[in-house]
Amino acid sequence: MPKKFLPQEDQIQELFRSLAFLGFHQMADQDLEKDFQRLGLEEPRFQEGREIRFSYTNNHYECLVLTTILSSFNNAAISDAAWVIVRTRDKKVFTSPRLHRTKYFVLRVIAWAEIGKALCDYRPLCPECNGYMDIEKGKQYREYFWEHAHRDGNQKMKLFEPLYQNLSLLAQSFYERYQMQLRSYQKKLQAKGLEAGRAAKARRLWNIQRPENVK
Ligand SMILES: [Zn+2]
Repeated sequence: MPKKFLPQEDQIQELFRSLAFLGFHQMADQDLEKDFQRLGLEEPRFQEGREIRFSYTNNHYECLVLTTILSSFNNAAISDAAWVIVRTRDKKVFTSPRLHRTKYFVLRVIAWAEIGKALCDYRPLCPECNGYMDIEKGKQYREYFWEHAHRDGNQKMKLFEPLYQNLSLLAQSFYERYQMQLRSYQKKLQAKGLEAGRAAKARRLWNIQRPENVK
């Protein structure tokens, strides 16, 4: 296992500054509280205080960055996995890989935040009807498409087609590296005759106690 590290105060500040520079805002505790109450959310495991989250909205998509940094103790959560999520209302449409607190944690979170933001900014319009296309999962593990459903077949586009050229070199390099890791992971599993993504299926981000309130 790569060595875990706890971000220092100046690294946390660098992360927050970079997210603000990208246009994210830190979610107020009250906003988080609203989500938690409306959905009856329970944290997946005990932690001392709320995790600091950042949000960016464009084209009716919201990108959330779950930092693992806790607000109350200016400390990091026990779980070391940060996430970047894109959602529309309460429906999660895209999840980054787990962003572990290893050596390049801060850069990796910034890179994936930029990717999540780009998914909002460059959400394409359907070439057939001009409606927003949606991010849909493909059949392969962690495969995503832009899609728009029509009676006589769907319009489909590769996820990074409309936005890749607009990413910074930092985001592009983290994305390429991730694609390479994904391919070698899939090959390893295939060699063993296993299916990819079983951990992801078993994992839950939150325990929703009030599913009737999911928007
Ligand atoms: Zn359409």
